[in-house]
This record gives sequence, C-alpha cells and structure tokens, in this order.
Amino acid sequence: MASGNAIRGSRVGAGPMGEAERGESAPRLRISFWCSNGHETQPSFASDAQIPDTWDCPRCGFPAGQNRESPPDPPRTEPYKTHLAYVRERRSDADGEAILAEALAKLRGEI
Ligand SMILES: [Zn+2]
Repeated sequence: MASGNAIRGSRVGAGPMGEAERGESAPRLRISFWCSNGHETQPSFASDAQIPDTWDCPRCGFPAGQNRESPPDPPRTEPYKTHLAYVRERRSDADGEAILAEALAKLRGEI
C-alpha cells in the first residue's frame, strides 16, 4: 500500500546537483491530507515534487484531500459486505420469514 516512504528515492538524481541531492538532506515538505472519515495523514514530498490532489488514507483506504472541510467522496463500491447482507440479497423477505418460523418451531420442539 502507499506509504510516506514509498516515494522516497523516486527523485534521486533528478536534481541539478546530481549526487548532492541524494538522501535525507534534500528539503522535504509534509503535506496534510484528510479523508472523509476525518483521518489525517502527512506524507512527505520532495520540495520540487508534484503534490497529488488526493492521497490514499493509510487507515481506511479512502481517498484523502488537502481540504479538511471537503474531503473527497469515498469510493462508491463498498469495501466489504457482511454475511447477513449477502443473505438478504439472495433471499426474499418471505423466504426469510419462513426460515425464521421454521427455526422458531424447532426451538419450541414443534417439529
Ligand atoms: Zn481514513
């Protein structure tokens, strides 16, 4: 997954000074991004790097933006569904009631 360290070194050799630009001495900017869940992440960028509009939140995976007041919308696809949600999609309400009634009957010893 994306992390603050993933971009480290991506600009190596890009500076006009060549080797002198390498390593920790290069000036870095820490940019804050907020996702729609209110998580803040602060990846660091080389001072001459292009700052992306959005950054993947490392905590929930939602896109995060630099504007805390209006973070990017979360992705439309749900990250996961519960087992119950799948069951409800596959069965009609009537089926569900029949299954429930049968289960209750078993509990009562009627079957
Ligand atoms: Zn988040």
